[in-house]
Order: sequence, then structure tokens, then C-alpha cells
Amino acid sequence: MKKLWSCILVVMMFMTTISAIADDSPELSEWDSFPSDWIIPPPSEMSTNHYEEEWDGFILPSIEPRYETFIVYSLSARIVVNVTTPLDQGWRSRYPTSFSYEANQIIEAVDDYLYDEFGIDFVSVAQPHWTEPNTNYEDTLFPHVINTHGLTYGSGQQASLMIAFTVRSINPNGIAWLNQPYALIKDLQNLNRNSKTVQHEVGHAYGLGECSLSSGCVMIPNGIATFFGQLCSSHWNTWNSNKNRY
Ligand SMILES: [Zn+2]
Ligand SMILES: [Zn+2]
Repeated sequence: MKKLWSCILVVMMFMTTISAIADDSPELSEWDSFPSDWIIPPPSEMSTNHYEEEWDGFILPSIEPRYETFIVYSLSARIVVNVTTPLDQGWRSRYPTSFSYEANQIIEAVDDYLYDEFGIDFVSVAQPHWTEPNTNYEDTLFPHVINTHGLTYGSGQQASLMIAFTVRSINPNGIAWLNQPYALIKDLQNLNRNSKTVQHEVGHAYGLGECSLSSGCVMIPNGIATFFGQLCSSHWNTWNSNKNRY
């Protein structure tokens, strides 16, 4: 009997506590009014790895403006590709307060298309500060950024793809080698044009060759920005077959 009473007492205390919480929480209704796209990333996406080693650059937290893991409409499985984006000193002086953002928004624009089509999800893991030689010659600049930064970042971690940005007047808008995980991009000071260059060069990294001028494909060898996000069926198929390359 004594036991029963103490049980009832505990239950009563519990109920009182619950109602006290409810009474003191008018802000609960405010939570209800958050927009439906108010999405909190899962714990794995929130982990930020900071490295304190002497290293001239940023390690970026592994979060993205769009939390693609929550988008379940894609027919493809998510293929995470860690990307380093070395930024030359000219890029950093051209965008003194936003050089990270300027590079990241291009990577994200390209990856939004690639994610929808193939499930490829670029995650920008590091933006090394690249001090390049004083030349506009791409055949000097490209090997230089590969050798000084390339895929390595932080304390010896390896990314899968490097997309470097320069303001040097290299002759092509971008340069890449077929099936190699590197690209160098010239800043055209326009988001769509830069996105087109990145998608084109990354296309080469995924094994896509140039396309004919009449194709309307992003792989045509000139800087027409309107072809960003357009692949001819042949190049779409190549990219789809090679989507797990990195
Ligand atoms: Zn090309
Ligand atoms: Zn094509």
C-alpha cells in the first residue's frame, strides 16, 4: 500500500512538472511557424574539423548551403566528392571580403546540376591560398597549383578533385586534362560564365571530350555561358557511366 502511494505521488509530481513546462513554453507555437524548409543538418553534417597546423588556407566545415541529403527525389545514390579549391592571390585581392564565398557559390551551382542528374555531390573541404608564379602562361600555372596544393590539404588529408581559381589572363577560360582530377579556372567575373567553365573542365576530368559547336552542350570549346547545365545525350551518357570516378 505504501508502495502504491509513493507511485501515485511520483506520477502526480511528474504531471505537475509537465504542465509547468507546457505553461512556461509559449515559444512552442513560434517553432510551429518556422517555414517548412527550415532544415537542420544531421549531426554527421554538422561536425567541423578544424586543423590548427601552420597552413595557409581554410578548412571548411562539411556543411553546404543546400542540404542535399534531405532531398529524396533524386534517382541516384549520393556520391560525395571532396574538392579542394586553391585560390590565387589575385582572386583573394579581387574579392577581399568574399573570396571563399565567390568560389563556393560556383562549386555549388555546378554541383546542384550534377547532383540532380547523377547524384554527384561536391563538398568543398579546403581553400588553400595559392601564391602563383608571375606568369599568364597556363602550362606553367596549372602544374604549379597541382604541385603546390593539388588534392592535399590540412595535415595530409586527400581530396578527390581540385578546382583552382586564378585571375591571371591565361589564354583558355579553363584548363583540365582528360580523366585527371584537376582543373584551373580563369575568373570571368560572372557567376554563369564561371559555372560554365567549371562544369566544362570538370567534364574533362570525368572523361568527356569537346563537343561540336552546334550541339548546345556545355562541352563546346568556348565560353558561352548559356550552355551551363546542358549536356548532349552522348556526353550525358559518358558522365553517367563515369559518375563514380572520384
Ligand atoms: Zn574543353
Ligand atoms: Zn556534348
